[in-house]
This record gives sequence, structure tokens and C-alpha cells, in this order.
Amino acid sequence: TEHAWDTVTGLIDGQADDWDRAGLLPVDLLRKLGADGRLCAQVPAEYGGRGLSSLENGEFTARVGSLCSSVRSVMTSQGMAAWTIERLGTAEQRAAWLPRLTGGELAAAGFSEPGAGSDLSAIATSIRRDGDSVVIDGRKVWVTAAHYADLLVVFGRYEDGAAAVVVPSDAPGVRVERVADPLGCRAAGHAGITLDSVRLPADAVLGGVGLSLPLLVTTALAYGRISVAWGCVGILRGCRTAAAQHASTREQFGKPLAEHQLVARHLAELLVAEQLATRVSEHASRCWDSGSPEQVMATVLAKHVSADQATRGAETALQVLASAGARDGHLVARAYRDAKLMKIIEGSHEMCQLMLAEHAVNGSI
Ligand code: FAD
Repeated sequence: TEHAWDTVTGLIDGQADDWDRAGLLPVDLLRKLGADGRLCAQVPAEYGGRGLSSLENGEFTARVGSLCSSVRSVMTSQGMAAWTIERLGTAEQRAAWLPRLTGGELAAAGFSEPGAGSDLSAIATSIRRDGDSVVIDGRKVWVTAAHYADLLVVFGRYEDGAAAVVVPSDAPGVRVERVADPLGCRAAGHAGITLDSVRLPADAVLGGVGLSLPLLVTTALAYGRISVAWGCVGILRGCRTAAAQHASTREQFGKPLAEHQLVARHLAELLVAEQLATRVSEHASRCWDSGSPEQVMATVLAKHVSADQATRGAETALQVLASAGARDGHLVARAYRDAKLMKIIEGSHEMCQLMLAEHAVNGSI
């Protein structure tokens, strides 16, 4: 496993700066990682996956995240799409779709719409049965990796409830338009998706029946939240390493920055942030791997704490590097922009707080 990690990180290391400034990842690299089952490494071996535990995949996600949050974001999307298919699909659908996601095809997951951000109960995309087909109409926004994706897992209204449907991105009626110049994770391929009378065979609907929308969304987001939490661990590792390295070599007032106590405090804060994020993410992954009833709360907590710590930690690291890190594309400059977005997605900071408050009062979320 160590060797495989080294191979993957070797493919990414040193290039994230260029990718960030170009706003684009090399698709060949994504397909290579995908064909090796690395972009959704928890998919079981029977579907061509690597069958990693959440904890193992978390560590891998953090390593990638410490190098490039855009590649890590693509991993989060691919993993979320694969998990949704694995969890909600029938045996036939799992057998049909998952080997494609472990074989080099790329996927994205679309919930958000112009009128449905934090409030996903407002999702308006419709999936309508018509004989042996389904017809999909709607609009999704800000879908990470959609620019690269071959398959789009789209959430919409279906029958009396809701469903996720697997849409090939080249199906007639699908239009994918990139978000121009996002604040961070600039090469992650965020895009809006328009679905205009997209007609697919009815077996594109995962599970084939309408389900409750909260159940559907919670299933997909559970994977996404743990993945983002580990991605934030990676951001913090990268920031702590860069800040420590800089503070021990750059001298001002006749001694290394690290020997000035106010700078030393920044380094201590960075270590605390990294440790906090790591421990909550490990806890969430252990809950996932053991099927603990605490899993939902632990997942929300991990995402909430890690994203918050990464946002503060990136700011702290930039303060330590000062002008040395204040260049577009530099690791800490990227971290500063990327981390902030992690407080907005997969349940914003405030939505996580509301869920945690619910748990505090009622013992459940
Ligand atoms: P709004 O819902 O309009 O919220 C605005 C602010 O108000 C936020 O601070 C929010 O926390 C706060 N707020 C809203 N309601 C409440 C409330 N009841 N109480 C307290 N505060 C509240 N979507 C996808 O479907 N797939 C993706 O892959 C994806 N990737 C993304 C990647 C990036 C980089 C970004 C920026 C977004 C992505 N999104 C994706 C969309 C993302 O999920 C939404 O941006 C997010 O859910 C917040 O919705 P919103 O931006 O519409 O903000």
C-alpha cells in the first residue's frame, strides 16, 4: 500500500501549482488514477475496486489533499457517486456501473440547484417515468468534477419521493458548462448542468423506486463529508509542513522566525489544528468501518471541525510565510482559498452546526 501511495503522490507532487493556475487537471492522469481504482478506493474488489476501509481511504485522501485539493475534490466526487450507486443501486446496477468507475471513467454527483443550496428539500429537478424510459428535466449548479465526468449521478423528484439517476454526460439534452474562475480548488472542474428532456432507459434510476429525499441525500453526503474532512487534514498537513520549514530557515532580527515566540505560537496552533482534524476524521472513519450508530453525528462533526480548522490553519500558515506564500499557486495561497470552500460545501458550517445542535438536544440527527 505504501508503494501504491508513493506512486500516486509522485504523479501529483510538484504540479498542483501549475494546474491551479491553468484551472485544469490533466484528464489522462485522472483516468489513470481512476482505472487503478484510486479515485473511489472503497469500492469492493468484486466491482474492480480496491476495497479499502474508510480509514485507509481517509489516509490516502489526506495524502492527495496535502498536495492538490483539486485532485482530492475529484476523488470526493467520484467516491460519492460510487457510494450512491453501491448503496442505492440494485445488484444489476452495481454490476453495470461500478466497474466503469473503477475502470477509468469519471463521475460527479449533482444535488445543488439555483433554488436549492442549503435547503435541498427545494430540489426541483424532475425524473418522470414514461413507459420503459425516464425523462429528466432540471438544472444543477456547482457540481464538482462535472467538467471531466462521463457519468453524472443526478438527484431529483421521482414518483412520490426522490431518486438518483445515472446520466451519461453525452446523453442528448445534457449541457455541462464550467464555472469560470472559482475562488479555490480551481482545477476541480466545477460545472453547471442543464438537463433538457433527457430520455434514458428506466433502469438508470438507482433502486428503481422513489425514496425519501433526506435519506437519499444523507446517504451520498455521508461519504462526501468524511472525504472532505480527510481532504482538510491534508490541507493542514501541507500548511504545517510549509510553515515549519519556512520558520526554521528564514531569519529576521538575527534568528529563525520559529524562535520568535509569537511565530512559535502560530506553529503550535497549526499542529493543534492538524491533530484535531486528524482525530475527528479518524473517529468518523472508524464509526463508518464498524457501522456504529454514532456514524452520522461523527461524520458531520469531522467535516465541521476539519473544515473550520483548515480554514484557520491556512490563514495562520500564510501569516507565517507572509510574502513567501503570497503568490498565486503557492501551496499556502491555494490552501487559503481551497480551505474556505470546504466550510461552504457538503453541508455548510452553519448547517453542520444546526445538525450538531439537534444532536445535542435530541441525541439524534
Ligand atoms: P445558501 O444555501 O444560499 O446559504 C448562504 C449562507 O446562508 C450560508 O452561509 C449558509 O450556511 C447560510 N444558511 C442557509 N440556510 C441557513 C439556515 N437555515 N440557518 C443558518 N444559516 C443558513 N453541489 C453539488 O450538488 N455537488 C457538488 O459536487 C458541489 N460542489 C461544490 C463545490 C464548491 C467549491 C462549491 C462552492 C459548491 C459546491 N456545491 C456542490 C454546492 C454546495 O453544496 C452549496 O454551495 C452549498 O450547499 C451551500 O448552498 P448555497 O451556496 O446555495 O448557499
